[in-house]
Amino acid sequence: MTDQAAPITGRLHSYETLGTLDGPGLRLVVFLQGCPLRCLYCHNPDTWDLVGGRPITVAEIIAKAQRMRPYFGTTGGVTLSGGEPLAQPHFTLALLQALKREGIHTVLDTSGTAIFTASERAQDQDSATIQAILDATDLVLLDIKAPTATGFQALTGRSIAGLEQFIELAHANGQAIWIRQVIVPGMNDNQSDLKALRDFLQRFPRLQIGKIELLPYHTLGVSKYKQLGIPYPLAEIGALPAEKLAELQQEVDSWSMTVK
Ligand code: SF4
Repeated sequence: MTDQAAPITGRLHSYETLGTLDGPGLRLVVFLQGCPLRCLYCHNPDTWDLVGGRPITVAEIIAKAQRMRPYFGTTGGVTLSGGEPLAQPHFTLALLQALKREGIHTVLDTSGTAIFTASERAQDQDSATIQAILDATDLVLLDIKAPTATGFQALTGRSIAGLEQFIELAHANGQAIWIRQVIVPGMNDNQSDLKALRDFLQRFPRLQIGKIELLPYHTLGVSKYKQLGIPYPLAEIGALPAEKLAELQQEVDSWSMTVK
């Protein structure tokens, strides 16, 4: 178990102050270090390494959030993003709980896949910890990389099991959630992939879905791969045209799956 009395340290990649894209209102976005996935289109490969970034305490982030509080207004707050905030599940839990104690609105921007040790899994601490994380989260931004086991494995190099576990717990919680998916030309920019996303979401009717947003694949991260000396897997694929995105988003908007 996490010792709640001890200073809890995690690893920070970076901050964005006054972010407007990752949840409602003006937000402090905390990009945590580490990610278990290896998405083919990832534009932040510098966040992957769990021992990268710099050490940071819950108290340090709370102090920064307090300084920004006047900007949050009635709708803003703090978003935990990454990398993947569930790569450091115990730090993320401690931080979310501390933010809630301060009365600050919390958003978790995640792909749903966490990193736990084998013994934590054996003792089923993973579902208990994710449940506690959901309880301290006002709004989840869930990036559904792909809604099928084969598609998820092909895109991320990892199993869909983490996403399945996460969304089932969120469903049981009746979680407020925004759904996101990146659309890549030639990979998932077609009707059958959209239908698979719809079929997947229909399995979880108790989710309080506020938005379903399709995001266009872009090539802005390519230079980071060059800097890191990693081959870029989608080098042959161009950005998604705006008209194609608009057409697919129109289809998604017709699903009537969101709460008003
Ligand atoms: S989940 Fe995000 S940070 Fe992780 S590999 Fe995928 S795109 Fe990159």
